[in-house]
Amino acid sequence: MKLKEEHIFRSKLPDIHIPNHLPIHTHCFQNLSNHHSRPALVNGATGEIFTHADVYLNARRVAVGLHNLGIRQGHVIMLLLHNSPEFVFAFLAASFIGATTTTANPLYTAAEITTQAKISSTKLIITHARYVEKLNVFASENGAVIVSIDKPLSPLIIQFSELKSDEKMLPGVDIRSEDTAALLFSSGTTGHPKAVMLSHKNIVTCVSQQVDGGNAAFHIDGEDLMLCVLPLFHVYSLVTVMLCSLRVGAALMIVQKFEINDLIVLMRKHKVTIAPLVPPILLAIAKIPSANLDLSSVRRVVCGAAPMDEKLQSSVRVKLPNAVIGQGYGMTEAGVLSMCLGFAKEPFKFKSGSCGTVMRNAGMKIVDPSTGISLPRNQKGEICIRGDQVMKGYLNDVESTKRTIDEDGWLHTGDIGYIDSDDEVFIVDRLKELIKYKGFHVAPAELEALLLAHPAISDAAVVPMKDEIAGEVPIAFVVRANDSNISEQEIKQFISDQVVSYKRINRVFFTAEIPKGPSGKILRKNLRARI
Ligand code: ATP
Ligand code: MG
Repeated sequence: MKLKEEHIFRSKLPDIHIPNHLPIHTHCFQNLSNHHSRPALVNGATGEIFTHADVYLNARRVAVGLHNLGIRQGHVIMLLLHNSPEFVFAFLAASFIGATTTTANPLYTAAEITTQAKISSTKLIITHARYVEKLNVFASENGAVIVSIDKPLSPLIIQFSELKSDEKMLPGVDIRSEDTAALLFSSGTTGHPKAVMLSHKNIVTCVSQQVDGGNAAFHIDGEDLMLCVLPLFHVYSLVTVMLCSLRVGAALMIVQKFEINDLIVLMRKHKVTIAPLVPPILLAIAKIPSANLDLSSVRRVVCGAAPMDEKLQSSVRVKLPNAVIGQGYGMTEAGVLSMCLGFAKEPFKFKSGSCGTVMRNAGMKIVDPSTGISLPRNQKGEICIRGDQVMKGYLNDVESTKRTIDEDGWLHTGDIGYIDSDDEVFIVDRLKELIKYKGFHVAPAELEALLLAHPAISDAAVVPMKDEIAGEVPIAFVVRANDSNISEQEIKQFISDQVVSYKRINRVFFTAEIPKGPSGKILRKNLRARI
């Protein structure tokens, strides 16, 4: 019997040894002696600085404090925090004692937090005093402990600073690399957020794939100051920003709240060198007049979580002339899948619009979603990824896990894309978001990129609308640029001139804003609900 041919794509960088038998905290501080007295965290709000040695000490002290409050190996703690040094200490502290961290958006409602806390069997929640109110019911019904990082309003709440205990009392715990270190929830772009179990091995692998090796894929070092404005509760900031920079001895500039003008001032003042961002923040940077910017210290801009169209990429390039601007492609279930090789220590050329090349120590496949057959270069299909960074599975959901990770270990991403002749990955759109016009597929992201290229349009989103004859047709939500009064007809014509008939936009709705999630993704499900 002739075996069917598999097209498996690999990085241009050679595989390396990854010490993924280590728990996260050991891996994180493995090279501490090289940089212990260098800054690790700069608190943007206060200017306070913690060295790598401070982070190591604080994490162990908090670990003992958590242990003293009854947190044991396998227990779950929730971080309901904006970006803060305490987030960093607490995440690493949990690792030290073999506990699992689940992270949640602090702006969630009480009901949303309760759902996540229940699913994950949270025993302790670390948050800000102003959010304690949202937790009272869950905490009293489930006997969970609440810790506040600032002065609590009630004497019953424990203050984080009191948690820190004698690090010499750190209990010895036998952590296995398969143990769940983080229980992260996906962004909920396509449905309910899914509870993703990431083991120590998964996360350590993901960090090493980025920053280890003679020619590191994501080259950062002790001289760098990396911006940490993206929420640490999301995998992108947690792994690519926080854990990568701690491992190499770089410093993080922690920004609690995104406000574009304050952000620019901070970046300029502290001379940020690496800026991991998402499209809506890049859009805000692109809008600032160049004269007010002076961000000459920035040498890398990483864009991820959602597509960056070419218009945006080139307008950012004008604003940040010293930076390599490229993309990473990540997902909660698989960390980083691909990254721009322009970020490597010995950089490669790359194309605008590409999401980089598959990470080292991993394999990527493009499969036909209906037949499962793997496709050669330049053919569009579902992106699949395999490697030790791929999640253990969804919590308490064997069925969904089986549907997502096949018997051969390939995780099916639900994203449609292709790999070109230079090994670069291009994402077309999500399988679930494709608009089905009769037998044809229309990718909303493609039409959105065309719309955004129009000078009278400042933002846009495309979704399907039911149609008796075609099944579905594309329609657009458009935010007009400041002084424009572009009409529906003009927009439709602008697109018709550039695309085949079935991709034409059927209706245009003008709106003040396109709804986006905290990681910068268009919430198309909210727009679909509007029609
Ligand atoms: P859910 O799975 O709950 O619907 P989600 O998939 O948006 O939400 P995340 O894990 O945060 O949750 O996001 C991963 C997804 O983000 C990827 O599957 C992909 O669709 C999208 N994505 C990530 N990076 C990029 C990128 N550079 N360009 C385009 N899309 C990207
Ligand atoms: Mg997803």
